[in-house]
Amino acid sequence: MKLTDEVKNEIRTLRMKGLSYRQVAAETSLSRDCVRNYCKLIGLDGLGSELPAVLRCKFCGKPIDKKATGRKPVYCSVDCKRKWYQANPKMHGHTCYYCGKEFNSVASIAKFCSHKCYERNRFYQMEDIQMIIEYLEKKEPVPNAPGWIKELINGISITDDKDDV
Ligand SMILES: [Zn+2]
Ligand SMILES: [Zn+2]
Repeated sequence: MKLTDEVKNEIRTLRMKGLSYRQVAAETSLSRDCVRNYCKLIGLDGLGSELPAVLRCKFCGKPIDKKATGRKPVYCSVDCKRKWYQANPKMHGHTCYYCGKEFNSVASIAKFCSHKCYERNRFYQMEDIQMIIEYLEKKEPVPNAPGWIKELINGISITDDKDDV
């Protein structure tokens, strides 16, 4: 029987929580043999209740030899570390070009925190100008000047690449 990656992850997670083959089989609707075979393959065989105490590779789940000194290893190998980062892309911090809010995205380049901000930036430029004027006339600080207005004030010409979100 071919196991999907999703099921494999599920088996690994459940085993590392200390569940027995039988319990994992019940959770995943697989046969106990099937669960056991896969667990043997990935080094998660043995008594379920003893598994959580063992230090395991965050990616492949294989036991890691504890070094006497130094930091607790998280991965069994450099390869596993790389693969884990590939499977779990790091979030990048961005500042929204429109509202100035900080936000996270898996994309390394992102301009807007939301589609709403993208649209505001794209289509509501007159309203934005109006808003800024009102604040300026009242001599009040502008709470969130859109990025393109800030750039113009700072003497930077704005590039017309508004289509990237
Ligand atoms: Zn590993
Ligand atoms: Zn925003």
